[in-house]
Amino acid sequence: MDFRVPVLYTLSMLSFYTKMDKNKRIRFLRKAILTAVALSCLIPTCICVILAIRYDRSQTRLKQASEDIAWYREHYGEKELEQEDTVARKFFDAANVVLAAESEEKEEPGKADADKEKSSDVSDDTMTEDEKEPSESSGEGDSPETDAKETVVYEKDPEDDDGAEGTEGNDGEEAGETPADEGADKEEWDGIRRIYLTFDDGPSSSTSDILDILDEYGVKATFFVTGKEDSYYQPIYKRIVDDGHTLGMHSFSHKYSEVYASLDGFQTDLHKLQTFLYESTGVWSKLYRFPGGSSNTVSKVDMEKLAKYLELEGIVYYDWNIACGDDRAGTTMDQLISNVISGVPRYHSCVILMHDAADKKNTVEALPEIIKTIQGMENTEFLPITDTTEIVRHRDYR
Ligand code: ZN
Repeated sequence: MDFRVPVLYTLSMLSFYTKMDKNKRIRFLRKAILTAVALSCLIPTCICVILAIRYDRSQTRLKQASEDIAWYREHYGEKELEQEDTVARKFFDAANVVLAAESEEKEEPGKADADKEKSSDVSDDTMTEDEKEPSESSGEGDSPETDAKETVVYEKDPEDDDGAEGTEGNDGEEAGETPADEGADKEEWDGIRRIYLTFDDGPSSSTSDILDILDEYGVKATFFVTGKEDSYYQPIYKRIVDDGHTLGMHSFSHKYSEVYASLDGFQTDLHKLQTFLYESTGVWSKLYRFPGGSSNTVSKVDMEKLAKYLELEGIVYYDWNIACGDDRAGTTMDQLISNVISGVPRYHSCVILMHDAADKKNTVEALPEIIKTIQGMENTEFLPITDTTEIVRHRDYR
């Protein structure tokens, strides 16, 4: 700091002061004292105010994040979380095995039985393979294959007919390949792999970051949200809609004990959320994702009843066929990316399950890489789920 300025200023003031008469000196002194006192109060006051504002902002952010996490702990207990993941994967993987066997049978009748046997062998290792991409681990042996055969409607590339044992390496090589000599439904495929990113459980303190990333890469997605009445979340619901993403429902409370206690409980929760979203955004959502997926076994009400009720209400529900795995504790960012990328070549319509939650920072960090990698694949297109999107369900009761 240059000290010459205040010294020169003081000297010039002294010279000015000595030239004054007595009365002027008194007035000058009085003014100088008052100014000094005012400044000595004002400067620290300003500093205090600035610090207080900054402290308040960081406290608000901390409080929001804590509330977010508390909400998830309360609504989404560890046991339920585990159950949701395991149960959904069980049905989903069983379906994969059946589809793989069916495609195999078309090419080489009789081989399917052997494949099923192979699959059930692998299923013994299901627990140890838990870290793998969910769609790759085999289904459990006791899964009712007939159920899966009747209900699962999503399609699968025949190149992946090693299905139950598929490896990430193979998937990588198969990325971008197009079906060559497949069955009837393959002929209808227009060659575009449609990618539907879906985010469950939001809004949260991560939603804005997710929306920023989607915006940056020009990607539209689907948010299956819950009901959060805190005013902090209101602009977030609105932004999801304003940014052109699809707003889907994922139950108001996300409490299994309430949502799945009875048909009445389910209806009340559903309409509470539908109305809440309409009041918050002006959107009357007709899209639903069951907490735990349609294959959950937590529900005390037959899931078929709930599915039929949704149909009556004109609401369409979606599950997923690729899970990034962010609901499993300890999954690294690289694993999340790998889980998604290795799953994409398997389907023409990829409905990817991700979570929008305060404690899922890895998901946010993995998102740009996931988007960039998929955008780098040939003939892929990101889309939000709409009325015309191919239905992807673990269990379909139509
Ligand atoms: Zn959920």
